[in-house]
Amino acid sequence: MHNFKNALAKAKSGEMLNRQEICALLAAGPEESEELFGAADRVRHDHVGDEVHLRAIIEFSNYCRKNCLYCGLRRDNHSIPRYRLTEQEILEAVKKARELGFRTVVLQSGEDLYYDAKTIAKLVETIKNRHDLAVTLSLGERSREDYLAWREAGADRYLLKQETADEHLFSIIKPDGNMQQRVQCLQWLKDLGYQTGSGNMVGLPGQTLATLAEDIILMRKLDVEMAGIGPFLPHPATPLKAAAPGSPALTLKTLAVTRLCLPQAHLPATTSLCTLTPDGRKLALNCGANVIMPNLTPAGVRDKYLIYPQKADIIEKPEAALNNIQALLTELARPPAQDYGHAKKPPGRSF
Ligand code: SAH
Ligand code: SF4
Repeated sequence: MHNFKNALAKAKSGEMLNRQEICALLAAGPEESEELFGAADRVRHDHVGDEVHLRAIIEFSNYCRKNCLYCGLRRDNHSIPRYRLTEQEILEAVKKARELGFRTVVLQSGEDLYYDAKTIAKLVETIKNRHDLAVTLSLGERSREDYLAWREAGADRYLLKQETADEHLFSIIKPDGNMQQRVQCLQWLKDLGYQTGSGNMVGLPGQTLATLAEDIILMRKLDVEMAGIGPFLPHPATPLKAAAPGSPALTLKTLAVTRLCLPQAHLPATTSLCTLTPDGRKLALNCGANVIMPNLTPAGVRDKYLIYPQKADIIEKPEAALNNIQALLTELARPPAQDYGHAKKPPGRSF
């Protein structure tokens, strides 16, 4: 109790929290959590304002060369039909996003080398030439040269979640790679001037509060502009099918503490949290989140991008989803942003 109060007071005064203090906040009980959420909400208000940024996500391929233990798109999952959108199909989805008023499109996929560096660069260039849009990429780990080519083509941001800062856990759940390599990718992205997003999954088997504290400390060290904090959700066609899902309460606490430690970051109310709990979006917006990422993947393939089951956004049409979001934002007196929603601070390396 004492530890929690001290840590919260320190966070409120803008001081940097150490590992123990972050753990004390993450261990908050139900009543303390309300205090924590209130503090995170105020920091969000003071540093990034009341506006909520809407980013349209287009999931253009579910092929993946990797075998992450938690993910339904892993290469050994032969039970899902695979799809790849053509350049034309992606551009149509982008056009629709712009027509609906979005100012950012997020292009996401499994790690699919079918789309080589040139193809993606050309796609980014075409989008930037045709539309008044910011472009975020989320294509996994690639070479520095690829990241450079896409940045030169005009890409503004890149999402590459660290998933966990625990080296041992990382090597188990992501058997194709290692933590250093992923951190290296994040550093390249920062160096190249991308607004860079990391993030984690809450409730991974074997994870502790200390692991979550390390996740937050790593994101602070990397000085990321964005962070996706979502619960782990077990997928039945993966080796982690029998594991328990992450808890909504701990996910919200992790989100709130991330807001306190990275006051200027853009933090989404994640789709995974909305899948886990129906009022996840509202709860997240009230404890630090300031971004929503509606799904603009074409209806014909959307149900095939199942990184985890019952993904909240696979049925709803974009127009209906936007109406619901608009109603929620009105209720919360949180206006949708009209601009690109770039990071407040200039991008670049600061570590
Ligand atoms: N292939 C890219 C991007 C697509 S995966 C990459 O891995 O970076 C996008 C995100 O989905 C991952 O960062 C991971 O955090 C999330 N994800 C995958 N499987 C999940 C699961 N079972 N539960 C919760 N989130 C999951
Ligand atoms: Fe592939 Fe990304 Fe899923 Fe890992 S998390 S299997 S890299 S899509």
